[in-house]
Order: sequence, then C-alpha cells, then structure tokens
Amino acid sequence: MLDIKITKTTTPKTKAPDDQLGFGKVFSDHMFIIDYNEGQGWHDARIVPYGPLPMDPSAVVFHYAQECFEGLKAYRTAEDKIQLFRPDCNAKRMQNTQERLCLPVIPEDIFVDAVKALVEVEKDFVPHLDGSSLYIRPFTIATTAQLGVHAAHDAQFIIICSPSGAYYAAGLAPIKIYVEDTYTRAAPGGTGFIKCGGNYAASLLAGEIAEKRGYSQVLWLDGLEQKYVEEVGAMNIFFKIDGKVYTAYANDTDGTVLPGVTRRSVIELLEEWGYDVVIGKLAIETIMQASKEGKLEEVFGTGTAAVISPVKQLDYKTDVAYINDGEIGPLTQKIYDTMTGIQWGRLPDTKGWIVPVC
Ligand SMILES: *Cc1c(COP(=O)(O)O)cnc(C)c1O
Repeated sequence: MLDIKITKTTTPKTKAPDDQLGFGKVFSDHMFIIDYNEGQGWHDARIVPYGPLPMDPSAVVFHYAQECFEGLKAYRTAEDKIQLFRPDCNAKRMQNTQERLCLPVIPEDIFVDAVKALVEVEKDFVPHLDGSSLYIRPFTIATTAQLGVHAAHDAQFIIICSPSGAYYAAGLAPIKIYVEDTYTRAAPGGTGFIKCGGNYAASLLAGEIAEKRGYSQVLWLDGLEQKYVEEVGAMNIFFKIDGKVYTAYANDTDGTVLPGVTRRSVIELLEEWGYDVVIGKLAIETIMQASKEGKLEEVFGTGTAAVISPVKQLDYKTDVAYINDGEIGPLTQKIYDTMTGIQWGRLPDTKGWIVPVC
C-alpha cells in the first residue's frame, strides 16, 4: 500500500444539498498529490486540503499542453458502502496516455491506491441521492519550468473529487446530435485514442456552434475522409441496425477513438447477451440509409459521466434521421439499467468490475 501523508483541512466546506450538485461544479475538501522528477521518480504522496496549485508560469503544461486526465466515479450503495467501477481500466488508460505524451508513467497500484485513499477520506462527499455519485478526476501535468519545446522532467499526478448529481435529473432523456462535417477531432497518428486536454481544446468550437444551433453534442466523423462515425462529444457511440450493434474500433495504443471503459463494458454485456457486435468502420451514409429503410433501431452514447445517452435525432448535412420516435429503445434501457445496477450495487457484480473502498 502506498504511503500517503494526510493533512486534514481545518475549514471543512458546508456540503451542497444532493439535489443541487450539477456536474463538476463543487469540489470536496481534499486532493491527492504525488510529485515526479527524474532523479527521485514518484515521491511525496500526500492528501492535502483542496486548493490552488503554486506553479511556475513557464511550466510546460501551460504552453505545450503536456497534460492528461482520467474520469471515474465512486458510488454509494443502498447498504451505505462506497465502491468504484473498474478503476484498473482507468489506471491502464492513463499509462497509455502518459506514454503518448512523454509524461512519466504512474504505476497502476499508485493510481488505484491513491483513488481509494482519497475517496475514503472524502466518503461523506459521496452523495446519497439516486443516480448521484462522487466524480473523480485524476490528472497529470508537466511542471518543469522551461519554454524550450521538450518533454518535461518534472510532473505532478493529482486527484480531485466533485460530488455530482444524477446526469439526467429528469430521467434518461434522448438527445439531438449534429453530425460534424467541417471540423474533425482526431487523425491517424495523432492523439485521438488518449485522454488529453489538447483534444478537448480543439473540439470546443464545434461543440459551441452545435449548441447554439440547439444540439446537445456533435458526432465526429473520421479525420481523413469524414465518412465514418467515430465518437459523440466525449462519448463513444453505438448504433443498432437491423438487430446488429455497431461501434467504432478503439485501441489502447493508437488510432482515433478513445477506448472508453463504459464502451468496453457495454460490448462485454452485449456479447454475453448474444448480440452480434460489429466493431469497425461504419459510414454515416450507411446509417442515414438504414434510417430511411426503417432499420436504424437505436443509437446511444456511452461514457462515465452519463453512463448511457440515448440519441433521438441525427442531423447530417441536409438529412435528418429520427430514431425510435424520440423514445429510449429497449436495448438502450436494458444496458442503462444493467450498468447503473452494477455500479450502484443493485445488481450482483458477476464480472469482477466492482472495487470496494469502504
Ligand atoms: C472519456 C471519453 C470517453 C468515454 O470513456 P469512459 O471511460 O467510458 O468514460 C469517450 N470519448 C472521449 C473522447 C473521452 O474523452
């Protein structure tokens, strides 16, 4: 077990009521920090009061975006136990990300031990209300003070926590999506498969424009031909066409699609239930055509924040596909119920996905 020095806050926050949390707006009392430098490796693991980070203005993270992050949640069960969902997957993904960005790699056990230790300290911040959770945001930043374009020699791995409300406060609500045909998110050889801030900075403009036009998210097409569907906003996406379920190929070590932990779990469930899951290229034209033929049965996004996001409408150029009369499809609902059932401990964890904290 990682040796962590704990300094408790002397000014605990007044907790916001569970029904007013929103997403990622309020933060818990403490944060985890571990430093890295080339001589010492990872050292000085500590949990300290949540607060500003003293940082040299020339730190590499500010100039060249040598930075990455993860996102997972702690769930409170009906028995008042606190548990995590597949934190080992987030740890491994952060390692892949760090390698791609020339950041020092955080050992998996440090990542998982640190998440557990911080969540235990913050257990009272894990909300009680149905569908709410403690969102956990681990991130790594390059802290070396230098303007030369080189990989940093120093870094910090930090974890903060944000008590968050149910993503769909008013029930699972199908969303309207704009198929982006101007901007792209990722290109072969780039950083699409990793969770780095740079990808997000580059995606904001398309998201803002789509939002102004009344869409919740953009659906990203491949960066090369703008023909094949990849992801929707910060979620992976699945299409049920004529009984089969399609999703884009995602890989840990290269490629343009982020390998989501939710995506991977949904694929495992679908395969267990006997569905034919087709992982690969799916052209937007094929989807629009399937819609015309009445074969586009269900569309849903997957990601830690929303878990499952049903899609009711896809707008591509001048074409519109309406899905399942704006209703949540039966498979989408079953996946949502199963995933959230396992996460919140309402269903047995037959797959060893749950890691108890306290
Ligand atoms: C985080 C993320 C996802 C979803 O991954 P999960 O592990 O399921 O939360 C999908 N796409 C992008 C671009 C992401 O950053």
